[in-house]
Amino acid sequence: MSLLIITHDDCLGHRPPDGHPERPARLEAVMRGLNQLSGARMESARPITRDELDRTHGRHYLDKIEQLDEAGQQLALDADTHFGPGTLRAIKLAAGAACQGVDQVLNGAARRAFAAVRPPGHHAESARAMGFCIYSNIAVAACHAVAAHGLQRVAVVDFDVHHGNGSEAILAGNENVLFLSSHQSPLYPGTGQPDTPHASNVRNAVLPPASGSNEFRDLWLEHLLPEIDRYRPQLVLVSAGFDAHWRDPLAQLQLKDDDYYWIGERLVDLAERRADGRLVASLEGGYDLKALEASALAFAEALH
Ligand SMILES: [Zn+2]
Repeated sequence: MSLLIITHDDCLGHRPPDGHPERPARLEAVMRGLNQLSGARMESARPITRDELDRTHGRHYLDKIEQLDEAGQQLALDADTHFGPGTLRAIKLAAGAACQGVDQVLNGAARRAFAAVRPPGHHAESARAMGFCIYSNIAVAACHAVAAHGLQRVAVVDFDVHHGNGSEAILAGNENVLFLSSHQSPLYPGTGQPDTPHASNVRNAVLPPASGSNEFRDLWLEHLLPEIDRYRPQLVLVSAGFDAHWRDPLAQLQLKDDDYYWIGERLVDLAERRADGRLVASLEGGYDLKALEASALAFAEALH
């Protein structure tokens, strides 16, 4: 069964100021890559519902975001997270796509799905926008898998170069979820140190700047993949950020296109052995367009 790609052109409508790295051209680059996959199925993303958001985000925060839209406001929610006329539609589709992927994979309509959407979500906390992120797409999807499908063990895997602090904050202590992240340290947002106190369902692993393919692969082989294997997840969710690539301007890791095929292959192997093959990925970071196109394609080829 081929990979299901879930996307929507309205995700291009979220437009931070000129010069911002999280720009619409990112999604166009990802789609240029994914369109090279032969035989992948495409579906239009559906918007997330308020009930689905209520599982992970605070009521006042969600009200505030909706009010900003109604007022036609254009403003910065934090130093680098912007809200404008097309933003609410885009964030609803980004979170909705991840839940749609969960539904399609758990209903048997697809074996694996990739939500090609923006803006990303893994820095957004329950009641705070942060780091380009407003809704926590992958945490919303994890809670949806538990609440709507009754899953008891969902693995949330984050290989974006930044720590998924928002996903961790929302999912920490959730007895139905295991959260695992590899990230560069030191780097924004500065959280996710393996030796700082954290919930028992959280696994963080760090790489120093200038680490490359060998260090990345060793970290996953030795520390994170065995944890997922032991957990025996019923579903693997992936925060798929491609900003650990050597070309990326926001970080200093040195991954190559092939490394994204490799991690995709490893995660598919785990999903096949432990989760009936069920895997849903959602786009997070990646800020060099050429690297993003090639890396997203390499990762998707492993899922296909
Ligand atoms: Zn990132």
